[in-house]
Amino acid sequence: MRRMLIVGNWKMNLTRAESLALAQELTRIIPEGPAEVAVCPPYVYLEAVRAALENSPIAWGAQNMSDQPNGALTGEISSDMLLDLGCRYVILGHSERRQLLGETSELVRSKTVRALEAGLIPIVCVGETLDERESGRTQAVVSQQFEKSLGGLTEDQMRRVVIAYEPVWAIGTGKVATPEQAEADHSALRRLVGTHYNASVPAGLRIQHGGSVKPDDAAELLRQPNIDGALVGGASLKAESFAGIVAAVPRD
Ligand code: PEP
Repeated sequence: MRRMLIVGNWKMNLTRAESLALAQELTRIIPEGPAEVAVCPPYVYLEAVRAALENSPIAWGAQNMSDQPNGALTGEISSDMLLDLGCRYVILGHSERRQLLGETSELVRSKTVRALEAGLIPIVCVGETLDERESGRTQAVVSQQFEKSLGGLTEDQMRRVVIAYEPVWAIGTGKVATPEQAEADHSALRRLVGTHYNASVPAGLRIQHGGSVKPDDAAELLRQPNIDGALVGGASLKAESFAGIVAAVPRD
């Protein structure tokens, strides 16, 4: 009942020409399949990537947005601007923004509500650091991030959210969570959502996995019952490796 979602987060990488070439190559090698697929290029290349992806099964989205509708906010980008560019998704609360740019869960919540009101699908990131995992605080940290970033959303709003569970120690490090470890963390998160909402909400909620996912690990991860796709950083910058992850989505 949950359609897998594979999203490439290009972060602050690639030139305009490289973005365009990558998007064009993706349309060539990724056929329509069981999963929804999207890429999130830097804002400034959204228009170019859109031109390459239009009329393909691949959607596009942004890596961040403002929680305000408009105004004197130099350098910010609004939900309406993303809609203007045909975005379907927006990644919110990525750990790099939380850790390096001081983004709080309260701000992530405000952005999430704005995205939902605008009709964008927010991909809200949560995940623990190595320190937090090693001191046995994974579940406490993730549940606090969930409560503060998504707490109080209505049932209808929550049904439109995607959560990306990304252990911070696995992001960009080449260390991938084992399928068993990832499954345990995803199912704990789904149970947590079930303590706040009617059972049909956690049952329908898509929880992506992120953290150094590569084609070789993807099949095992994506076979886990509580993993509903992947948020992919490094491996999304090469068409073959991103397509390899999409191809690893189980067909049954
Ligand atoms: C990410 O930044 O969301 C991510 C998962 O990156 P990587 O795949 O490079 O670890």
